[in-house]
Amino acid sequence: MHFYVMTLFPEMVLEGLNTSILGRAAEKNIIAIDAVNIRDYTLDKHNKTDDYPYGGGAGMLMQAQPVYDCYKAIEEKIASNEKTRVLFMTPQGKTFTQQDAIELAGEENLIFLCGHYEGIDQRVLDAIVTDEYSIGDYVLTGGELPAMVMIDSISRMVPGVLGNSQSGENESFQNGLLEYPQYSRPEVWNGVQVPPILLSGDHAKVDAWRLEQSLERTREKRPDLYKAYVEAHPEVLHPKKKKRRKNS
Ligand code: SAM
Repeated sequence: MHFYVMTLFPEMVLEGLNTSILGRAAEKNIIAIDAVNIRDYTLDKHNKTDDYPYGGGAGMLMQAQPVYDCYKAIEEKIASNEKTRVLFMTPQGKTFTQQDAIELAGEENLIFLCGHYEGIDQRVLDAIVTDEYSIGDYVLTGGELPAMVMIDSISRMVPGVLGNSQSGENESFQNGLLEYPQYSRPEVWNGVQVPPILLSGDHAKVDAWRLEQSLERTREKRPDLYKAYVEAHPEVLHPKKKKRRKNS
């Protein structure tokens, strides 16, 4: 999967994404991250990429021309028959979720557009953007961190990026619930014992305990998620009792 990030600060994106799991995935060519400097495409003789907003107001606005030419250069490089999705990072967009990460991981190429200063001239947004994403209801100085957050999360859903192919499956949000508590060695730490069921070797019982814990945690910490989950899975409130075998 290939990520292209249109930004005025490519070093910020590359430095943030080239370590640990994503760094190894890039080394193995499972993912590739190109941070493309919008400034390289400006036609302004002073290398300017921003100007004052018409109508007045605080701050500067990124101009349409460098953004558009940068986009065109990336499109030419991708050379696909299908239009590549262009995701604009904006506090006004849809709030990014795990389900979005799963869906976007199915794309071969994605282009991220990072705004800075007061944002970007609306005309170029209208011309190239296919999706708008926010990472939460607060305002950041630029779209670089949101793009990095999204790339990290999407990459984890690309097959081969996580060492163990199952390690993304049981995590929070993946099935609509928060993850159950986890424990590692030693069996007793600081006087606290690991729940004995996890040492029982009985996988069915461990799975049942984990589901119970996930439900309990989600009910406490995220009642909104819990409500949606229970509506979709009413059986969790009334688990079927196993039929007892009659003694012969
Ligand atoms: N004037 C814009 C507004 O009020 O909607 C905010 C501009 S913000 C200071 C600069 C850039 O940071 C935005 O163009 C966007 O790319 C990025 N940004 C800021 N907060 C964000 C968020 N919560 N999610 C995604 N991108 C964000």
